[in-house]
Amino acid sequence: MTIGGFQSGFSARKVPRAEVKWEQFLICSHGCEEVIQLISHVSGEVEFELCKIEAERMGNVLLAAVKTESC
Ligand SMILES: [Zn+2]
Repeated sequence: MTIGGFQSGFSARKVPRAEVKWEQFLICSHGCEEVIQLISHVSGEVEFELCKIEAERMGNVLLAAVKTESC
């Protein structure tokens, strides 16, 4: 299932851990069973993936960065 997307060229989807593309690069010490993948609109390939907890953290970090007052 693909969830939305954004204009910078990626869409996101959630897959079971068994379907991870690069298991050896997945940083997850939580034992997450679900992984978020970012798929490039250009190549159609999985360009980035991270576990559910890390994805949530990344989302929060991005939101915090967006809301930061620039100097
Ligand atoms: Zn995890």
